[in-house]
Amino acid sequence: MKSLTVSVVTPDGPVLEDSFQMVSCKAESGELGILPGHIPLVAPLTISVVRLKGETSNQLVAVNGGFVEVRPDKVTILAESAELPSEIDTERARRAKERAERRIQSQQDDIDFKRAELSLKRAINRLDVKKGQ
Ligand code: ATP
Repeated sequence: MKSLTVSVVTPDGPVLEDSFQMVSCKAESGELGILPGHIPLVAPLTISVVRLKGETSNQLVAVNGGFVEVRPDKVTILAESAELPSEIDTERARRAKERAERRIQSQQDDIDFKRAELSLKRAINRLDVKKGQ
């Protein structure tokens, strides 16, 4: 069966490199389903869950923005940060979520609001991956 080498890289180093049958990710332009042989492309990613479908098991990764680069036999995801479920600290993400919600409710200036919104998205995304969604 044809497969794709998938590598997820952040400024802190590699998060994952393995073979998978399919990659699903959320680009800013919409959902991308990538199978082996896909045409080359580069697309910006949203704060979202990357789903990797393997022959025997699947893998989720929480990705904080960045880019996906697709080649027919390889998918590279470069993200500001990315975590596997086992690496996610649920309590930390819950605290980050609550902090961001409080900041959003306190209606500070636009810059703080945008920052809090992004922080909230990262926290929810991490909690989703931890729950296996
Ligand atoms: P926090 O407010 O808790 O620091 P954050 O969203 O601001 O969260 P980032 O700036 O996205 O954090 O990430 C900084 C580093 O911390 C990255 O290496 C990221 O993988 C890691 N990280 C952030 N939140 C968690 C978490 N809940 N569990 C494990 N690692 C995390």
